Amino acid sequence: MLIGCPTEIKPQEFRVGLTPNAAQEAVAHGHDVIVQKGAGAGAGFTDADYVDAGARLADTAQEIFASADMIVKVKEPQAVERKMLREGQVLFTYLHLAPDPDQTRDLLASGATCIAYETVTDDRGGLPLLAPMSEVAGRLAPQVGSWTLQKANGGRGVLMGGVPGVGPANVVVIGGGVVGTHAAKIAAGMGADVTILDRSLPRLRYLDDVFGRQFKNRYSTAGATAELIREADMVIGAVLIPGAAAPKLISRAQLATMKPGAVLVDVAIDQGGCFETSKATTHADPVYEVDGIMHYCVANMPGAVARTSTIALGNATMPFMLALADKGWRQACLDDPHLMNGLNVHAGKLTYYAVGKALGIDV
Ligand code: NAD
Repeated sequence: MLIGCPTEIKPQEFRVGLTPNAAQEAVAHGHDVIVQKGAGAGAGFTDADYVDAGARLADTAQEIFASADMIVKVKEPQAVERKMLREGQVLFTYLHLAPDPDQTRDLLASGATCIAYETVTDDRGGLPLLAPMSEVAGRLAPQVGSWTLQKANGGRGVLMGGVPGVGPANVVVIGGGVVGTHAAKIAAGMGADVTILDRSLPRLRYLDDVFGRQFKNRYSTAGATAELIREADMVIGAVLIPGAAAPKLISRAQLATMKPGAVLVDVAIDQGGCFETSKATTHADPVYEVDGIMHYCVANMPGAVARTSTIALGNATMPFMLALADKGWRQACLDDPHLMNGLNVHAGKLTYYAVGKALGIDV
C-alpha cells in the first residue's frame, strides 16, 4: 500500500501525522511511504529523516492525495484537502465531525473511507488515540499555569515549590481523569500542595491507591469547590461529561472570593470551558484577566509542544496504521472492533451513530 502524509495546513498546527519511526515501520512491513517536503519541520523532523526511514518526498500535497491509498494526518482535512480526497482512498486522522456539517458533507461527497482517531476505543472503555493528547495537555497545564503565576505575567508572584521557610503554591485540579491526573502529578512534582476533585468515587479510590500522599483528593461538590478555590493559587479545570458541554463549576461572582492574581487554567475549554469566565484563546495570546484572576484557555494545548505531541500521537496511532496498511481497512476493522468504532464515513455513507444523530443524517 502507498501511505501518504501531507503537511498540516490548519493554522497553528505544527504536528505531523507520521513520524520518521512510523514511516520506517511501514516500509519494513513492505509498504511505500510518501511524505510532503517540510511536513515534519514543525515537529523537528527533517526531510532527510524521512528519506533515511525509507520514505519518498513529494513537493506538493496534490501529489500525495492523487497517489496514496491511505492518507495519515493529524487535523481534520481542510476544505482544499477535502476536494482532493478520492473514492476508495482511506483517511486516518482526527475528524470531530459532530459539530462540523460542512466537513461531513464534503467527506460524504468524496467517496473516501474516513476513520477518526477520536472514536477508536480500547478494552477498558477508553479512547486510546485521544488519551495521549490529554496526557500532554494535563502535564502542560501546571507548566503554563506556573509561568502565568509569575508577577510579570499578571500572576500572584508565587513559586510552585516555595523555598525553605516559605510554603509552596496551592493547586486545585477539578476532574481526576487523564488530564487531571497528569496535571496533579506534575504540579505535585514541582513541589506544589495539590488537591484533586472528582465526581466519581471509584476514580478517587484509584487515585488514592496509586498516588497515596502525593496529592489529596476530595469529592467534587459546589461546596467543596467554593472552599478550596479561596485558598488556591492555581485552579486547573479538567472535567469531561462525555457528549455534553463542560459544566460551569466556578462562577464569575466566585472570582471575588479568590486571591488576586490567582490563575485559572481551563483545559476543558475545547468542550466550552468549566469556568463561567472562560473564553478560548490561542498560543499567540493565551492569557487574559477577569476581575483580577488570570485565565489561560488555549483550546489546542498540545500544539505548544508539537514534537512531544507528534511522537506521543504517533506511538498510539502506529499499530492501527500498520493494521490498516497490512490488511486493508475492511479486514482490519473486521478483526478489531475498536478500530471499527473509528469508522465514521464510507463510500458516501455516514457510519457513526452519534455523528448522524448530532447532524440529523441517516446512518
Ligand atoms: P476524562 O474523561 O479522562 O476525565 C474527566 C473527569 O472529569 C472524569 O474523571 C469525571 O469523573 C470528571 N468529572 C465530571 N464531572 C465532574 C465534576 N462536576 N467535578 C469534578 N470532576 C468531574 O477526560 P480527559 O481526557 O481528562 O479530558 C478532560 C477535558 O480536557 C476534556 O474536556 C477534554 O476535551 C479536554 N482536553 C483539552 C485539551 C486542550 O488542548 N485544551 C487537550 C486534551 C483534552
